[in-house]
Amino acid sequence: MTAEPATLSYTDVELPEQVRRLHTAIPGPASLARHAHRQSVLSTGLGTTLPVFVERAGGGILVDVDGNQLIDFASGIAVTTVGSSAPAVVRRVREQVAKVTHTCFLVTEYDGYVEVGEKLNALTPGTHAKKSALFSTGAEAVENAVKIARVATHRPAIVTFGHAYHGRTLLTMTMTAKNAPYKDGFGPFAPEVYRAPLAYPFRWPTGPEHCAIEALNALEDLVVKQIGAHNTAAIVIEPIQGEGGFIVPPAAYLQGVATLAREHGIVLIADEVQTGIARTGAMFASEHDGIVPDIIVTAKGLAGGLPLAGVTGRAELMDAVPAGGLGGTFAGNPVACAAAMGVFETIDELDLVSRARQIEALARPALEEAADGNPWVGEIRGRGAMLAVEFVVPGSKNPAPEAAAAVMAACHRQGVVTLQCGTYGNVIRLLPPLVMPDDLLHDGLAVLTSAWKGL
Ligand SMILES: *Cc1c(COP(=O)(O)O)cnc(C)c1O
Repeated sequence: MTAEPATLSYTDVELPEQVRRLHTAIPGPASLARHAHRQSVLSTGLGTTLPVFVERAGGGILVDVDGNQLIDFASGIAVTTVGSSAPAVVRRVREQVAKVTHTCFLVTEYDGYVEVGEKLNALTPGTHAKKSALFSTGAEAVENAVKIARVATHRPAIVTFGHAYHGRTLLTMTMTAKNAPYKDGFGPFAPEVYRAPLAYPFRWPTGPEHCAIEALNALEDLVVKQIGAHNTAAIVIEPIQGEGGFIVPPAAYLQGVATLAREHGIVLIADEVQTGIARTGAMFASEHDGIVPDIIVTAKGLAGGLPLAGVTGRAELMDAVPAGGLGGTFAGNPVACAAAMGVFETIDELDLVSRARQIEALARPALEEAADGNPWVGEIRGRGAMLAVEFVVPGSKNPAPEAAAAVMAACHRQGVVTLQCGTYGNVIRLLPPLVMPDDLLHDGLAVLTSAWKGL
């Protein structure tokens, strides 16, 4: 392998000017015309957060077809963590796409796939022997992690949690908690999927101080008394829940889940599709609570926007599958692997793990100050560059999805792209690219906080 010099300058990639600038209403006329056309072409099953067509993106800015420059607090749902079209990603993708676009790794091999596997084995928590397999999407990787756990344990049952999100395929929508829009009408669902309550401190009925222990007791009851531990292949958990509302469970809870799994020979699968790859101020969110999952699933931020996903786990689990049992035609595509190596290079060169912590240090005080005394804000939570605001009906903890929707709409009108989440739709989440400059971050936060002050 020849070492390539790290060139992170933007000489080759033209970065949009890092300022918010609006020329039209949002969405503008060019976006509206395209959106109307799209309606006649594409399935209504495809939702849209903001009907704006994007032409170019980079740093913390999205440029739309009307020439507006929007602040990107979404990163395409935690994907462009290193920024869209990050220079190292562009350089490596260009080189790779000009050499080989596809062989199918199951037919003939190539270096990029092995390099990404080595990186994932080295970077995921734990010093045990690890092996990896690559896929194209998060849902596909979660499904394969479950397949591996079942083959390795010869057990059928899978335990998931309240508020969980794992994808839109048959198995992963079954594992997902929220009915509409993910499951409604799409059944019958996959068998042998069980659900324990998640430790959600803000909404725990007896209060946050009882949350960890009571949720652990419920999990143990489900596993030991209802399913039978000897029937349980895997516990699948997001260390910080994504779509479910950026729920950060107490550290003692995740540690307790890991202990329970270990005691009963159950495979602990961390779905780090949204939390992984530097997003939370650690390479993986599991590190914050000191847990070492048996299998870690990655996707979203792994390849800077190209479709790539990984399953990384204990070597003996990963090797329980006979040849041919894992893989896929496109899985671990060489161009996507080249992009992933560009992502790892960028995280390293720009120390983006620290930058995620820095973003929290900048954003959290601004959010908390604006929340202070505001009756609509129930909680500010999250880690690193994965932060959220949960809106409630004043004087209660009742979810206020209409308040979150109003704040989102105000942000969108002013050119700040935010996302809603949460089982009750009452959470606004922030997922900025880690390369977003400070002043852009502050500008976006000012728009967001003044929107909720106006409720
Ligand atoms: C997005 C997501 C998935 C599904 O990933 P896709 O690439 O959309 O299939 C799975 N798990 C979590 C935690 C996610 O956030």
